[in-house]
Order: sequence, then C-alpha cells, then structure tokens
Amino acid sequence: MPEGHTIHRLAQDYTAAFARTAVHVTSPQGKFADSAALLDGTVLTTADAHGKHLFLGFGAATQPPAWVHIHLGLFGKVTFGPAPAPPPTDTVRLRLANDTAYVDLRGPTTCALITPPEKQAIHDRLGPDPLRPDADPAAAHRRISRSRTTIAALLMDQKVIAGVGNVYRAEVLFRHGIDPYRPGKDITPAEWDAIWQDLTALMREGVRNNRIDTVRPEHTPEAMGRPPRVDDHGGEVYVYRRANQPCHLCGSPVRTADLAARNLFWCPTCQRR
Ligand SMILES: [Zn+2]
Repeated sequence: MPEGHTIHRLAQDYTAAFARTAVHVTSPQGKFADSAALLDGTVLTTADAHGKHLFLGFGAATQPPAWVHIHLGLFGKVTFGPAPAPPPTDTVRLRLANDTAYVDLRGPTTCALITPPEKQAIHDRLGPDPLRPDADPAAAHRRISRSRTTIAALLMDQKVIAGVGNVYRAEVLFRHGIDPYRPGKDITPAEWDAIWQDLTALMREGVRNNRIDTVRPEHTPEAMGRPPRVDDHGGEVYVYRRANQPCHLCGSPVRTADLAARNLFWCPTCQRR
C-alpha cells in the first residue's frame, strides 16, 4: 500500500504533465468508460491529495470542477510516459493523454467521478494530513489523547491521521524513542507536536525524492561505514523490515510483531518511553 507521500507526488506529477491542457480521457478497460466520455476533451485544472486519496479536477476554471476520486488500494499502479501513447492494454482503467504525455491507471480500488460535496465528505472523514497546508495537528491529538489504543495502531488509522503507512509509523516512533505499544492517552502534547513536525519534514522529503529515507545524517551508510540497505522499497531506515538485524544506535536486534494487521518493527532498547 503506498503511503501519503506517493499520492502527493502523483498529484504533482499529474499536474505537471496535464494541468491547463485539454485532455483525451479514456477507459480502455471499460469500467470508467461513461465517466471518461463525459470528461474527454475537458481541461485538467488541478490535482489534490489527502492521505491516500487522489483527486483530479476537470472543467472550466470558473466552475466547480468535476473530480475523479482515485484510491490505489493494494494493487493500483500509475505509469507516466511521453506522447505518443502506445496502444493501451485492456487493464487500463483510466488513461489521460495530451500532445506531450500520457498516464495510465491500473488496478485501483476506487476510480469514480464525484461532485464537490462528495469530495468534501471524503475530506471530512479523514484525519489531518501532515502534507496538507490546511492540516490541524491538534485535531489528531484530541483523538489520540482520548484513546487506550496503542500509538502504533492510531498512527495507521486514517480517521486519526491521514497518509501515514507502515514505514513512516515505525520510523517516526523510533526517531522519538517511543514504545509502539504505549496507549495514545499517554502521548503528551509536546511529544505529539514533535512527532507531527517530524512526519511533516520526513514526508515532504519523501514527496521530493519519491522514496522514504528516515535516518539522520550521522546514521547514513557513509557516516557509519556500513553497507547500504538492500530492499526493494529503497531508502535508508532504522527499523522497518530490519527484523533481527542490529539497531543502528544500540546494536540490539530489531523486533517485529503483528499489530493492526501489519508488521510492526521497533528497537526494544531505544524505544522505552
Ligand atoms: Zn536501539
């Protein structure tokens, strides 16, 4: 499942390739064909992201846009390429094409044409997203401070905070020395502020680089004289998918356990608070 930085990066990439141009919109697979026909030839005006939800706005700039709501789920994939677009395969749910570029969406959980009120309803049920300028971190802390659920599970709950996935939750808790099993109600406002600011900075860097790196400068492979991480996720991390390997700070074996249906990773020595 992609984390929020991937979706914000996609919003930027869709905008860079198609904004302010009339777009040829098709659904070679057919499931989105009726909506694609309505949008075909209109202008992509904007793209927006909230957590793991992507919104593409079409229509005249003076009118409320028609929105395409996309959620990639576990299997959704987006592929950009230069014009001319190759013949599409019948797995492409949504293709956008103009004179310079094309982009194919395959296998999303959601790809639907929605109205502005329907879009607002999606925003309303999501928690604040560290990558959005309108985000209110206090709204997340209000929910966390009332909950006996572990902070590790709360960070994955999109109603509490939107966009954080399995990698960022493990890494931010490590960076702040917080035991992932601590109940939300024991997270102080100061701790939450620090977590939020760190997530904002890490996720912005994730959007820029299109990958997740979470180690501080003194813990890079070069600084520590250690081999770089080998993992198809790329990026340097402290604990994510490093089960039984030594912690970069203390040397203890990194632990793993199942929590909220996903693998959790943490250092039992560095994360005691
Ligand atoms: Zn450690």
